[in-house]
Amino acid sequence: MRSSLNLHASNNNLLTTNLRFECYRCSHCCYFTVIEESPIVIEDEVINLKSEAVRLGLELKFVDLGNGLFRWVIEGYCPFYSTTSNLCSIHEKKPLSCRIYPLLLNMRTGDIHLSTACDWVIQNLNTLSKGNLDVEEVFKNEVSWIKILYKKLLST
Ligand code: SF4
Ligand code: SF4
Repeated sequence: MRSSLNLHASNNNLLTTNLRFECYRCSHCCYFTVIEESPIVIEDEVINLKSEAVRLGLELKFVDLGNGLFRWVIEGYCPFYSTTSNLCSIHEKKPLSCRIYPLLLNMRTGDIHLSTACDWVIQNLNTLSKGNLDVEEVFKNEVSWIKILYKKLLST
């Protein structure tokens, strides 16, 4: 199972850093070796993903986890990942758990963690491990997607 850093921080004495997340397109977040790594998605995302799969002639597998949550079971490369362009073929429609990466949201507890499977995270691990990181500053876009995900979870 992939390891992660807990990003819990108090609002005081946040670490000031020029660090800003930048995707290296290493593809590690689109390749899955064990089921537990597969993305958790919500019901309307299941519908969207199935519709994209039909359009592209793909078959997807989901496991109902209850409370409106589903595990999208992926083995190996995500079927929407293009190994020729190294890009996500449904970028505009990809689920929120892909948008927030390398942040990981525990959808049951609301805790935010940082995946240590991401090349950018590995490269900046020393700074990221110091703690009390201003997560909103370093992961501006990803945090904005987490806020949208929170709202959706509260309305399910
Ligand atoms: S939907 Fe796109 S970003 Fe998400 S795992 Fe698949 S290829 Fe990667
Ligand atoms: S693992 Fe990190 S650096 Fe690699 S493609 Fe995913 S987000 Fe980008």
